[in-house]
Amino acid sequence: MENKLQEIAKKLLTDGEVDLVIGYGADTDRFIEPVFITKPDEAKKLLWNKKCFNNLAVYLTKDVVKHANKVGIIAKGCDIKAIVGLIQESQIDRDKVVILGISCDGVGEPLLKKCNGCDVNTPKLYDHLIGDPIESTLREDKYAEVEDFERRSGEDKKAFWDKELAKCIKCYACRAACPLCYCAKCVVEKNIPQWVPTSPHSAGNFSWNFIRSFHLTGRCVGCGECERVCPVGIPLGLINKKAALEVKSAFEYEAGYDYEVEPPLTCF
Ligand code: SF4
Ligand code: SF4
Ligand code: SF4
Repeated sequence: MENKLQEIAKKLLTDGEVDLVIGYGADTDRFIEPVFITKPDEAKKLLWNKKCFNNLAVYLTKDVVKHANKVGIIAKGCDIKAIVGLIQESQIDRDKVVILGISCDGVGEPLLKKCNGCDVNTPKLYDHLIGDPIESTLREDKYAEVEDFERRSGEDKKAFWDKELAKCIKCYACRAACPLCYCAKCVVEKNIPQWVPTSPHSAGNFSWNFIRSFHLTGRCVGCGECERVCPVGIPLGLINKKAALEVKSAFEYEAGYDYEVEPPLTCF
């Protein structure tokens, strides 16, 4: 797969079809660093393995990438759902991005939680498919944890979130890793008026985490990056999935599958 990835990236750069390819590069012990390739000879740096966690779509809205004429990006099915969201929200132009979609049967050892509920092992949208198409490896209902949680009492739910959100240190790593959190100025950094206190404490933490979730309702594609990068292990996916399930029930819509469909919270 790696050879095919490098070969296609090299050709795209050689033919001038793209100015830049965003992919996975240097392999450190624990993770893979993203790389930004602009010269055909650098394509040999690209790699693919079980540590390719990052959703590289987060870089598509950064200024330096936006200024490129056309960008190639290596993306798994779950990452491509974020690209779909960015196209729907006019943050990127479909014609300006070349998607090198990876056929993926999961990352992480053990597998990341999201991979058990994956229905995009073969990406739904791509320009070049890397690897053979694979049957969905869906092992569990992605909303099962929300439904389990819903069975708890109100008191129990509140105690759970009080405890979890008390851990938040307001590092904003969840926001930085999220491809759909692209606002140039986040509401939580506005100080006139200051809607959300910047220092970590219970009330402010609750506001911060739920405001973020509300802003992502109907938009979050469940790529799991926010939860993966949270240094204190808050189960952010549970909040996001609850919101996604509400949107699914009300509008029969799930984010990230078809960029030609108007998102319900945009057109409702
Ligand atoms: S969620 Fe699916 S596409 Fe994404 S890393 Fe897991 S198996 Fe691959
Ligand atoms: S909120 Fe989390 S799971 Fe949803 S798109 Fe952003 S990073 Fe991915
Ligand atoms: S990554 Fe975790 S600790 Fe950091 S702001 Fe987000 S929820 Fe809080």
